Amino acid sequence: MDFMQRIRAFFAKISYGSYGSDQLGRAVLYGSMFLLFVSFAFGSALCLYLSVAGYGWEIFRMFSKNRGKRQAENALYLQKTEKLRTEIRQARVRFRNRKQYKYFKCPQCRTRMRLTRGCGEKNVCCPKCKNTFKMKA
Ligand SMILES: [Zn+2]
Repeated sequence: MDFMQRIRAFFAKISYGSYGSDQLGRAVLYGSMFLLFVSFAFGSALCLYLSVAGYGWEIFRMFSKNRGKRQAENALYLQKTEKLRTEIRQARVRFRNRKQYKYFKCPQCRTRMRLTRGCGEKNVCCPKCKNTFKMKA
């Protein structure tokens, strides 16, 4: 067995039955990358240590054989960040459709609404609180 075959066999052996990557793992990796960038940009030792700790934690999670515990961690992460992830997803949709629709909030209850651009001034009735107001698009 040559050197490369031994390396391949070693990685096949340690990754067999391991958990792999998930949403929490990717978030930790992106966070660590960001902290590494900050540590180089501003010379912050704390950010460097946190970044290395993040990479270490994600490597531990990827090669972990305790699938149940890793899945529970990921489920908790997804549950805690659902509101933020939904907000980001909706903001991307609004940005993509910004030339087609004018997006605005109800001045009374802050519900998001939209009008097709170029429809002129309209009387808008909020579907949630029934507040009526004029909006130009
Ligand atoms: Zn409203």
